[in-house]
Amino acid sequence: PRFPVPACGGHGSLVSPLLQERSARLRRWYELMMENKEELARIITAENGKPLKEAQGEITYSASFLEWFAEEARRIYGDVIPASAKDRRVLVLKQPVGVAAIITPWNFPSAMITRKVGAALAAGCTVVVKPAEDTPLSALALGELANQAGIPAGVYNVVPCSRQQTAAVGEVLCTDPLVSKISFTGSTATGKILLKHAAGTVKRVSMELGGHAPFIVFDSANVDQAVAGALASKYRNSGQTCVCTNRFLVQKGIHDEFVEKFAKAIDKELHVGNGFDAKTTQGPLINEKAVEKVEKHIKDAVSQGASVVTGGKRHSLGKNFFEPTLLTNVTTKMLCTQEETFGPLAPVIRFETEAEAVAIANAANVGLAGYFYSQDPAQIWRVAEQLEVGMVGVNEGIISSAECPFGGVKESGLGREGSKYGIDEYLEIKYVCFGGL
Ligand code: NAP
Repeated sequence: PRFPVPACGGHGSLVSPLLQERSARLRRWYELMMENKEELARIITAENGKPLKEAQGEITYSASFLEWFAEEARRIYGDVIPASAKDRRVLVLKQPVGVAAIITPWNFPSAMITRKVGAALAAGCTVVVKPAEDTPLSALALGELANQAGIPAGVYNVVPCSRQQTAAVGEVLCTDPLVSKISFTGSTATGKILLKHAAGTVKRVSMELGGHAPFIVFDSANVDQAVAGALASKYRNSGQTCVCTNRFLVQKGIHDEFVEKFAKAIDKELHVGNGFDAKTTQGPLINEKAVEKVEKHIKDAVSQGASVVTGGKRHSLGKNFFEPTLLTNVTTKMLCTQEETFGPLAPVIRFETEAEAVAIANAANVGLAGYFYSQDPAQIWRVAEQLEVGMVGVNEGIISSAECPFGGVKESGLGREGSKYGIDEYLEIKYVCFGGL
């Protein structure tokens, strides 16, 4: 169950041909993704609905994890530890955990797979991927390219299934003793079910779960930068990313100017439509249930006194299309400030002091991403350190990339993906003591 045999810990001179082979094949897989970028992007737009330009961006992002981990495969160093006894030598080896079960959502049908699989294969593991029911085709297309890249049969496996079978397939993947590791991206509710399954055989787990990202605009912020960041962070993928801003907190001195400029930018720059139309920036939501959740959050907020500045209802295109929406006079009693909307809804809460903003931001059971805009260096350090999240964007609305650690705190999950830390999720540490020397 390992690809193609355990990685050896130790110094650079111990790099084996097998390790170089793993690295080379991952690199080839990356190149094939880039050579087929257009076709892969069209598959994403067809199955997920996101605008083609965003889908192309996802393929570049997705492929970057294969490139990154092709390089990281050669840096799985062990350690030599100074021993406490004269006649002993102590080594630490890093070995692949074994078979990894990988369960992914529909919002990034390609990147959520490669972010895990790149690390797993680099470490020397094999994988069984269960993609979301709504988006199995990107996972299968990746399989075709894996074959072309010379990844041996049985190393990258895909098990698509209908929603009726999801729970049963998930249970097998998370309880079978042959599986050593579960890596899941999806909702916190599903993550908790999988954690319970995993407990039976004490499997290693990585969980990338839901978010509720705050986006704080302090009086000291550059308002135009904040509006540009807000637009990108909120409406990308029609608001359906785990790191999308879910609530805006805007200080009273800058509030009116920010809201006015944000509303103008929404009306001018966002275009709802078919993802294959070049003008479209906002595709449909994934399904009717997703639309109903956005409607429910707006209805609840308005019934408690929120005002609709722009949008607020289903788009005239019908089906799953929804107008990009901006609400003001929002309070922390409203549903949209208490749970993830996962749609194109921007609720704005007005606040007075920094301490108040940080308290509101941290009053959540999840903590994935958080953003804030400020030009005050002391405030930047204070707030960056106080926010209870795994990732902070300071004067920046889009922050993920292959070199940086992605993951959350609290009920947003366990572990990190990407970066130099991501490979550790697929490695066991083995301590070897040489005695009697
Ligand atoms: P979801 O319902 O939890 O589904 C995610 C995946 O889990 C799908 O493949 C789904 O299969 C599967 N699944 C559902 N129930 C299962 C069960 N009982 N056993 C095994 N597998 C099961 O999540 P979603 O609504 O599709 O995705 C949105 C959520 O993902 C949001 O909360 C978002 O914040 C989170 N997310 C987090 C990250 C991150 O990195 N932290 C990234 C992206 C998204 P079916 O499709 O067949 O139901």
